Amino acid sequence: MALIIDGKQVSQKILGELKEKTKALKETKGITPGIALLLVGDNPASKSYVASKKKACEELGYYSIVEHLPETTTEAEILKLIHDWNNDDRIHGILVQLPLPRHINELKVTLTIKPSKDVDGFHPENFGRLVIGLPGFKPCTPAGIVELLKFYKISTSGKHIVVVGRSNIVGKPVANLLYQKTSDANAIVTICHTGASDLRRFTRTADIVIAAIGKPKFITADFLSNGVVVIDVGINRVEDPSAPKGYKIVGDVDFDGVEPIASAITPVPGGVGPMTIAMLMKNTYLSASGELKYEA
Ligand code: NDP
Repeated sequence: MALIIDGKQVSQKILGELKEKTKALKETKGITPGIALLLVGDNPASKSYVASKKKACEELGYYSIVEHLPETTTEAEILKLIHDWNNDDRIHGILVQLPLPRHINELKVTLTIKPSKDVDGFHPENFGRLVIGLPGFKPCTPAGIVELLKFYKISTSGKHIVVVGRSNIVGKPVANLLYQKTSDANAIVTICHTGASDLRRFTRTADIVIAAIGKPKFITADFLSNGVVVIDVGINRVEDPSAPKGYKIVGDVDFDGVEPIASAITPVPGGVGPMTIAMLMKNTYLSASGELKYEA
């Protein structure tokens, strides 16, 4: 029986600590962490992510602005809004919910966010800082994965970690975080993608597999070796007529098939997902409190 890595429990612990620290920050320094959330269009998944983020802000006592703009919003309007938030002292973190409508250049939007308010950690300045090991905002999902491993005392030092997926928001940053020469990383990391003609050749040699693919139940037991630790980042909607909404959420890993051979595994939902919001809240707190120093 594998250890089930409970992201809900770990995220609640982090959020509980942040709530206490936020109270103290208000009382001692008169600072209320503030975040601006931008949603463009009516993508149901994006709407639900933004609603969850706003709810987390309310629970922690953060100041939050949610700007929900129509699909037809121009790039210039979005950039103007970001400039305003860059210069608004009440706002310590800016989050633009992706994906944006096709006529908007996402990179241009990301580059417009002041790096010191880029609590998603997507700005190249923060990504570069992560790669060379300088302080900066770490992207929330990868940072959440590291926190989960730490919480469960799953050592990564000297371990072979295979990351499947090389996106800029999950695969690349998590790989970069985990090979850093630090006490909670120091792993030997392999990054796989569609260029791997035989993915099993790599995943079978892994002590830890991180799946960030976006394909439901893609990683089955035959990809893995006994005792592997499995971190499933995937969030995939699959039709399920028996579910009230007509669909259910599954990961990139075939949980039922893999759990019997794994030593530890994250479920979907309830694994990596809840950690993403917790780390967003943490980044916003770090920005507001000034604990994250941008100096080298
Ligand atoms: P992307 O679509 O941006 O990237 C997917 C990656 O998987 C690509 O690098 C792609 O390779 C690789 N890939 C796809 N098919 C295969 C294959 N057959 N063999 C090997 N590699 C493959 O996805 P994201 O990184 O944004 O997201 C991945 C998953 O994680 C999604 O389900 C998403 O919903 C979820 N997610 C969950 C979050 C959370 O909070 N838990 C946060 C963010 C994402 P190539 O580059 O060659 O195309």
